[in-house]
Amino acid sequence: MGDTALTVEELTAQRERAQAEYEALAAKGLKLDLTRGKPSPRQLDLADAILGGIDRPVAADGTDLRNYGGLVGLPELRAIFAADLQVPADQLLAAGNSSLELMHDAIVFALLGTVPGAEQRWADQEITFLCPVPGYDRHFGICERYGIKMVPVALTPEGPDMDEVERLVAADASIKGIWCVPKYSNPDGTTYSAETVRRLAAMTTAAPDFRIFWDNAYAVHHLTDEHAELADVLALAAEHGNPDRVFVFGSSSKITLAGAGVAFFGASPANLKWWQSHTVKRSIGPDKVNQLRHVQFLRDADGLHAHMRNLAELIRPKFEAVDKILTAELGDSGFASWNAPTGGYFITLRVPEGCAADVVAKAKAAGIALTPAGATHPYGDDPSDSIIRIAPTYPELDELEAAVAGLTVCVRLSATEKLLG
Ligand code: PMP
Repeated sequence: MGDTALTVEELTAQRERAQAEYEALAAKGLKLDLTRGKPSPRQLDLADAILGGIDRPVAADGTDLRNYGGLVGLPELRAIFAADLQVPADQLLAAGNSSLELMHDAIVFALLGTVPGAEQRWADQEITFLCPVPGYDRHFGICERYGIKMVPVALTPEGPDMDEVERLVAADASIKGIWCVPKYSNPDGTTYSAETVRRLAAMTTAAPDFRIFWDNAYAVHHLTDEHAELADVLALAAEHGNPDRVFVFGSSSKITLAGAGVAFFGASPANLKWWQSHTVKRSIGPDKVNQLRHVQFLRDADGLHAHMRNLAELIRPKFEAVDKILTAELGDSGFASWNAPTGGYFITLRVPEGCAADVVAKAKAAGIALTPAGATHPYGDDPSDSIIRIAPTYPELDELEAAVAGLTVCVRLSATEKLLG
């Protein structure tokens, strides 16, 4: 990348053309937003039936769901999600509307309580988390908030660089965790290979209380009929003598309603006991009425998969449009590379080193909002300043196309300016 075989004259001509295009773009007064991975209103419309009334707010076992209680969540709903989240239903809890909230709580409970296997509370020692990059900014935000040191490790097409992960966790007992988005990762769309999952489950860690934060946010979010397969980390960890190593998170935020879905937590029996020793103090039970709404809407795992196929029909054209425009405008330029994920919510655009922040600033000045450069890295610091996250789901297709076309102008201008020095 940035490896163009162009002469100075050719580059200068390209810069001048990009400059003229950029001025025309800025003059349009656009107001477009590619920042956050939110479902579009049309996606949400597909789950409208969930807003309908509930005939009988009663669980299969006769429990009156209007009342307090049921801390573990509605068994019928846990059964629907168990196979896709790769957690046995009796080890999968259904909670409130946000899995991020559960990840946050897991950290806070581990800081202030003592996780199974720990000698001390995390609050009483220095804590480090490994952060595969590029990754999800809100994971990093939780660590930053609680003073947890973050160490980036490269995300390869197979998942985190396992040689590096194994070396680090074996040597340093302060390393207590790793953030993983194992399927259709945010933002690279990577699915961890079976060997990566096995190594994560089996590796020797200096910390006896090491945890994998397995944020399987995109477990069922396929864009095509080609479904990525993910190995079963919970089962593998148990098989390798590390049954308590994994916390599994998931939610229906990008399945049903982003602001009113249901979140899930899965783990070993010892971890669940520990988890509930905290949550029992925090709540008298989750919103089981919303959980029942989800059961009535999705019905079963087949219903869930059918709904995901309908969502993919709306989302896939947007991913295809981004790829098409990037290919047409930047394909032969040598200025950029990007991935074409088969699932998830994001596309990662890689621009020449030192250009990402400039591209984002140029786009902003032209009315195109992008996720801040660096957001994909701990402390907002992408040392290569080359990664831009594109979130194609929210805008309508015409707006998306206009925004991505504008973005390519910014990339060409920034890259030619950089190369010419
Ligand atoms: N994890 C990942 C990897 C995400 O991309 C997102 C949403 N952008 C979340 C978690 C948030 O999930 P929830 O809505 O369940 O809090």
